[in-house]
Amino acid sequence: MSSLDTFALEKLAALEARHLRRTLQDSTRADGPWIIRNGVRLLSFSCNDYLNLAQHPAVRDAAIKAIREHGVGAGASRLVTGNHPLFAELEMRLARLKGTEAACVFGSGYLANLGIISTLMGKNDLVLMDELSHSCILAGADLSGATALTFRHNDVNHAAALLQQHRGQHRHALLATDGVFSMDGDLAPVHALATLAKQYDAWLLTDDAHGIGVVAGGRGSTFVNGVADVPLQMGTLSKAIGSYGGYLCASQSVIDLIKTRARTFVYSTGLPPASAAAAIAALNIIETDPDLVAAPLRKAQSFTRALNLREAESPIVPIVMGDAEKTLLASRLLEDEGFLVAAIRPPTVPPGTSRLRLTFTAAHPDDQIQRLARLIGERILPRAP
Ligand SMILES: *Cc1c(COP(=O)(O)O)cnc(C)c1O
Repeated sequence: MSSLDTFALEKLAALEARHLRRTLQDSTRADGPWIIRNGVRLLSFSCNDYLNLAQHPAVRDAAIKAIREHGVGAGASRLVTGNHPLFAELEMRLARLKGTEAACVFGSGYLANLGIISTLMGKNDLVLMDELSHSCILAGADLSGATALTFRHNDVNHAAALLQQHRGQHRHALLATDGVFSMDGDLAPVHALATLAKQYDAWLLTDDAHGIGVVAGGRGSTFVNGVADVPLQMGTLSKAIGSYGGYLCASQSVIDLIKTRARTFVYSTGLPPASAAAAIAALNIIETDPDLVAAPLRKAQSFTRALNLREAESPIVPIVMGDAEKTLLASRLLEDEGFLVAAIRPPTVPPGTSRLRLTFTAAHPDDQIQRLARLIGERILPRAP
């Protein structure tokens, strides 16, 4: 056997022994939050399609129409020939929703953060991140070559202490956080971070992958309890928007720089026009249907109330089990009862905090939410720490 295969097999065996190996399972998304796995229909609490827009007739039709008219792939980077006019329309719509001068659409949310952070930050600079920030913020900071530090989760005083200590040694500073934390569902203290950023001339970046479409009337975490001053609002088109792609909303000058210099924008093919068309159709719905936009959080709160958990602040609810194996067993128990609830393990979450992560969508039936809460209350929570 080659040394390469030996390397791969040994790595896999070591992960397996710690219950951290991951495997793909065929999953066919049926209607709304239902999914088919191994021929079984399960109610999924693990999709980020919060508004079920991936299957909405108007969103589908927009994508199909775009494919018929323009074909499938963009054919090149947007800076060469891949800049379909639908992108300008989509960027205008995103900027309007977020209250910024301009926007830039990327291939994905992950690519957006890699490109944004590595364009704005360099080796003499400081990136200060919440410790629970998404993997792509950490990866962007790594790629930038800047000094990267983390502050304790949502601890503005710790962030202030680190800025006080380190800001002076660096030319520029970026303060980065998830707006809605992807594995915890809590909100960042965006207003306090904005004030802190101003005080130290740091640039605030919020990753609103789980905020757009579902928090603050769909406008996202910047707009909770009044508008916060967030110069860099990024996010994804792949969750509540139901399509695919990532975005940054910012001032015209920042967007112009990103479109000229961000490597993941310049050297990567533009999104398929159908993804842009679908996203525009989804934004039409989000901007005109406040009841739909409010539904996922309302459903999550009915679940946290039923179990006396801390009230949900977003459609994401974690049930921290601690141990990876115990979490996998809990997930299998729920699957036997017809529910798909993914077990989230390290390194997606810190060691010792393996958890069930539930996401609620507008279309989850209320009686099923109550049945799931009863099952978890009777058969899983007694075994959690
Ligand atoms: C999902 C997610 C991303 C990545 O977005 P994609 O479009 O799926 O690449 C980035 N940040 C956070 C917080 C996320 O949850």
